[in-house]
Amino acid sequence: MGANHNASTLEERRDNDFTQSLEDAKTPLYPGCAKNTKMSAIVALYKHKVMNGWTNNSFDGLLEMLGDMLPEHNVILKSVYSVRKFINEFDLGYDKIHACENDCCLFRKEIKNLQSCPKCGSWRWKVDERMKKIRKGVPAKVLRYFPIIPRFRRMFKSPKMAEELQWQFKHKSEDGKMRHPVDSIAWDLVNYKWPAFVEDPRNLRLGLAVDGFNPFSNMSTTYSCWPVMLVTYNLPPWLCMKKENITLALIPGPKQPSKDIDVYLQPLIEDLQELWNNGVTVYDSYTNSCFNLRAILMWTINDFLAYGNLSGCTTKGKK
Ligand SMILES: [Zn+2]
Repeated sequence: MGANHNASTLEERRDNDFTQSLEDAKTPLYPGCAKNTKMSAIVALYKHKVMNGWTNNSFDGLLEMLGDMLPEHNVILKSVYSVRKFINEFDLGYDKIHACENDCCLFRKEIKNLQSCPKCGSWRWKVDERMKKIRKGVPAKVLRYFPIIPRFRRMFKSPKMAEELQWQFKHKSEDGKMRHPVDSIAWDLVNYKWPAFVEDPRNLRLGLAVDGFNPFSNMSTTYSCWPVMLVTYNLPPWLCMKKENITLALIPGPKQPSKDIDVYLQPLIEDLQELWNNGVTVYDSYTNSCFNLRAILMWTINDFLAYGNLSGCTTKGKK
């Protein structure tokens, strides 16, 4: 009881902080500015920085200049550091995890501090081929993991969204026609096998979609990205496939077509297991109360090639 109470006050405090941050984000860029808020301006600028590979230094310079040029009492931030801090408050940040160049492992947990891959022995760091020098501190490969639990917490912070997340509970089709996964056999099977899970309609039912794509739309380059997306089927059909409601989980990269992305799925799978086995405390702003949120992975969506990458099996070539 005591522990529960503490958890709920902690959640409430975090919720208050979040509401404050939200108000801050909605501030007009400068007094009387109708077109941009602090959030929209910062996100647009930061996106431009990332897309064009600007250095932190040049971005700092630009922010400072903009601060001078904009009308008085503007709320533009002055440095990359404060921009990142601002974005992180909305749990929009990601974890950078170093990976073996040959996709054998992620440098986390027990092997967090290793300098080379325990399986293939290749360096964790980039190697300058010309100078034959190891560039310590510059990782050879990086996985960007967008933690899913804070993102689910955030969904329940909007009362409207928290209500929509129960849509599936009351909207099973009655005419035998399928219009949402709630009408599927798989859904019924979950209801039958895990009644305790089903008891709370807020528990999430997820689909995992994976496919490789080429961000520069030029198929001859060797650069390919592997976004992993989670679809939340609790939502009504007109919302669950909307891009803002799809949770982007991770992008293995940065270069070369990935072979075995199952290695990269580890952090995501661990979070999913935690959500399935124990659940996490979440504040529901629709009912103004805390509850234990659990989640089940219903199925994965991918083509046959991606299926091979996902499970670490061979689906192409000789075998
Ligand atoms: Zn390796």
